Amino acid sequence: MVSPHRTKRPWQGKVEKRSDEVRPNYDPSCYLCPGNVRANGTLTPKYEDTYVFDNDFGALLPTTSDDAYKNGLLVADGEKGICRVICFSPNHALTLPDMKVNDIKKVVDLWQNEYATLGALPYINHIQIFENKGATMGCSNPHPHGQIWAQKSIPQEVIKKSTQQKIYWDKNKSSLLKDYIEQELALDERIVATNEHFVALVPFWAAWPYEAMIVPRRHLQNISQFTEKEKQGFAAILQNLTKRFDMVFDTSFPYSSGIHQSPTDGQTHPEWHCHMSFYPPLLRSATIKKFMVGYEMFGNPQRDITAEMAADTLKSFEVKV
Ligand SMILES: [Zn+2]
Repeated sequence: MVSPHRTKRPWQGKVEKRSDEVRPNYDPSCYLCPGNVRANGTLTPKYEDTYVFDNDFGALLPTTSDDAYKNGLLVADGEKGICRVICFSPNHALTLPDMKVNDIKKVVDLWQNEYATLGALPYINHIQIFENKGATMGCSNPHPHGQIWAQKSIPQEVIKKSTQQKIYWDKNKSSLLKDYIEQELALDERIVATNEHFVALVPFWAAWPYEAMIVPRRHLQNISQFTEKEKQGFAAILQNLTKRFDMVFDTSFPYSSGIHQSPTDGQTHPEWHCHMSFYPPLLRSATIKKFMVGYEMFGNPQRDITAEMAADTLKSFEVKV
């Protein structure tokens, strides 16, 4: 549901500029900064690029029992898993868009390595790489970092995508997302940025105001298949898109981002075409966000600005690398 006429309603909120708060490069109280001690007494080494470790308070644990629970209508399964934390940079003050492409590439290298290593574990069937950016998205520490949750079962959102991609693959012997981006490139109404290996766009079905997606041009099931050049291209388009986000309201743009890719369940998944999605909540200013409430909780998402308007805004900026 798209209702752009709603943006004509009078708006009395104020448009706030980027806060002048300057974060230090190093924060002695930050448990992700190099050389600091975490709450459980572990010393974070003086890392120079990226750093990954098991979350001290992970939601998933490798020691959880596989036992199932069944009692009439009540059914539950034991869920084994591992939660990892990835520091993108030793510099506390940076965010992904502030980082150099070569440094973002090191984050991509780590994602690739973690997908392969965790995915090789017999009890791990799905790997969710994600980032919550900004306090608005519930991020408790401003140090640039993301997370990986690796687990036994395949989550609902992934099952939905697996199912639809498989239906399309079985019918057409072609990747649903490859055919989709080809149509989008031909239309050129929702494309935000492109490079030799990737396309960034506001998807036709976007629900969040500036929702965006990065899709590899090649039909790749997962990040382990990215070549060196593709990893470089991924880093470049990640930087490009997130820099554009920061320019929309002249603020460090909050979002949740995540990579959806083929399960690591030992099956081949020719239907899968991996991609990264961004769900940013801001709608009208650095402080006015979209609320998915009321009708959206009980019916369907509704947009106030069209996907084409969002794409036009995002692509209108000049990005300095
Ligand atoms: Zn820090």
